[in-house]
Amino acid sequence: MEAKIGNLELQSLVQLQDLDLALKELRDKIRRVPLEMTALEQELADFRRAHQTALQKQEEGDKERRRLESEVEAFRLKLSKYRDQLMSVKTNKEYQAMLAEIANCEREISAKEDEILERMMLADDWFRQQRAAAAELSTKEKEIQARRHELEAFQTRAESELNQLEKRRDSLRQKLAPELIALYERIATARHGVAVAPALDQSCQACHVRLRPQLFNEVRRNLQIIRCESCSRILYYPSPQ
Ligand SMILES: [Zn+2]
Repeated sequence: MEAKIGNLELQSLVQLQDLDLALKELRDKIRRVPLEMTALEQELADFRRAHQTALQKQEEGDKERRRLESEVEAFRLKLSKYRDQLMSVKTNKEYQAMLAEIANCEREISAKEDEILERMMLADDWFRQQRAAAAELSTKEKEIQARRHELEAFQTRAESELNQLEKRRDSLRQKLAPELIALYERIATARHGVAVAPALDQSCQACHVRLRPQLFNEVRRNLQIIRCESCSRILYYPSPQ
């Protein structure tokens, strides 16, 4: 069963509708490109921040360890000074006080060395975390770079396609009577950009309201401009694909 659109204006309107819908879809896609680009930038920034934080932790850990090491060094100097002085003290009281200082230095050194060991183990963790974050960042950078190139290529293609579609639409519009274009645009504005609708199974496929049998039979012939009595769209009978 081959349905032909015998009315040239109707046929042009159907084509115009197809072109307008394709244009709308393409424009929507083009509009989404900069949004996706921005989202990609933000995603990359998150990964950069994560790596930066890991790096900072690692550096702070190293700095803290170096600080502890220099404190240990200072206590060792004190310790050796106290041990030297131990030989020259005069009284037992002084001797006991010096011994207490020495014991204190040894405790400090031992506590700080324990802390240094803990720091070194933590530093291993931070180093691993930092390396993992760096690897993730590098993978993400490549992924995002590839997606950016895809988007740029799409944009170039889409803009040239847009250009061609616009040309086809303009030449199609020139074939149509201005009143018909005005009608088409009025309906399209009121009906979310869809002014022409197929009729199948006795009903308008846009608003799904059943058509009177006589009206449907008229639509099936595709010979004149007939509008849906419910949604006002211009109806046509589609060719089976
Ligand atoms: Zn309808």
